[in-house]
Amino acid sequence: MQKTYDVIIIGAGPAGSMAAIRLAELGLSVALLEKDTFPRTKTCGDLVTREGLGLLKSVGLGGWIASYRRVDALRFSAPNGSLLDVPVASPEKEARNRILPRAVLDATLAQVAAAQGANLIEGCRVTSVEITSEAVQVHSSQQSFKGHFLLLADGSHAPITRKLGLLREQPDLMAARQYFHCPHIEPHGPLEFHFQPAILPGYTWVFPQGDGSVNLGAGTYTQRINLKEIDLAVVLEEFRRNDPVMAGRFKDAEPIGQMRAHPLRTNVTSTKTHGERFMVLGDAAGLVSPFTGEGITSGMLSGAIAAHFLDDIFRAGKFTAEMTAPYTDALRLRYQGDQQAGYRLRSALRTPALLNRFFRMLQRDSSMADLFAAIMLDEKSPQLMLHVRNLLHLLRA
Ligand SMILES: Cc1cc2nc3c(=O)[nH]c(=O)nc-3n(C[C@H](O)[C@H](O)[C@H](O)COP(=O)(O)OP(=O)(O)OC[C@H]3O[C@@H](n4cnc5c(N)ncnc54)[C@H](O)[C@@H]3O)c2cc1C
Repeated sequence: MQKTYDVIIIGAGPAGSMAAIRLAELGLSVALLEKDTFPRTKTCGDLVTREGLGLLKSVGLGGWIASYRRVDALRFSAPNGSLLDVPVASPEKEARNRILPRAVLDATLAQVAAAQGANLIEGCRVTSVEITSEAVQVHSSQQSFKGHFLLLADGSHAPITRKLGLLREQPDLMAARQYFHCPHIEPHGPLEFHFQPAILPGYTWVFPQGDGSVNLGAGTYTQRINLKEIDLAVVLEEFRRNDPVMAGRFKDAEPIGQMRAHPLRTNVTSTKTHGERFMVLGDAAGLVSPFTGEGITSGMLSGAIAAHFLDDIFRAGKFTAEMTAPYTDALRLRYQGDQQAGYRLRSALRTPALLNRFFRMLQRDSSMADLFAAIMLDEKSPQLMLHVRNLLHLLRA
């Protein structure tokens, strides 16, 4: 007879694996279905912020993360090329953020889920799903699975979430990255964010990985890419080869693999994130920050929040939309205000002239520079930068 799982999870990215770990810890039976086979590469900047590090520690990965590079400074460049360095080392000596390459992060989290008892099935591409008031049926080309509950963690392409009619919008941002071996870039140098005119309203990043390799990437609005105003591959190539400062630093750089691009979903209200017998997690739920493009931590947190509510739901034995609604309320409470402020800050800083002014202000005022660094590390809300006192500051800069 076909086994009935308590929870079936589609997608073993950070969101799906974190949910699987927490649900398995609660004693629920979990099938974690992933179309790829680990370790697999993932299009990302690999930056994990403080709250994300805390979540990884909470599932026993504190020792593991400590072996990856900590970041103690950020470097920003304004459209006019002026530089701003901001130290971000924590006084408690705890790393505020680390570079955790996704190829190993995702494989490690999925392995923790399997070690906790989740049935991790790799190479399993889900093709369709049926949700009835009685059960959930999930089909891949080779196998079918039955469960009481479904978690959709299928990323920003969200093929199954889309098939179920739960997406209300197309992804708003697009980003691309490529790894290079770079002999002329300091392996433990600052994480760099370059607000070049060619990519606004977005930025190009240079994230040294600590081992001689560098993650070079850029992200901006999908609309500008669709209108062919920006080609991310061209922006990155120009930056690396022709930027007066970068050309020397990328001299003798050897590419490691291809450039890869991926969309990001940055609006929590753009997905229907709950209903009878299902919840949607991570990128599929639109949890990426529209200002920074970061979504690993929010993905993992959504998995943990879903597991928290599922504990109550399984105890009550009721899987109705009314029972799952508090999950959406919790996501919106946590992310909607920050996302709206992120959009406002992005459009406030969309022209080179304003950004030059903005960075001039940050150069003069270290507390504002610290605030901006904390926003870029998702530690503080972009709302704080939009405070009227700060806007007046900007006008005077
Ligand atoms: C270029 C770029 C740089 C970024 N940099 C950062 C960064 O530095 N820091 C940060 O915090 N965030 C960053 N992000 C965002 C971050 O990558 C995502 O927010 C994060 O991966 C979301 O996790 P997730 O688990 O929701 O989705 P994903 O990590 O996308 O995982 C979804 C999983 O579902 C699987 N899947 C999809 N369809 C199916 C199917 N039909 N059947 C089975 N499995 C399926 C996929 O294979 C995948 O493993 C970046 C994104 C991009 C594009």
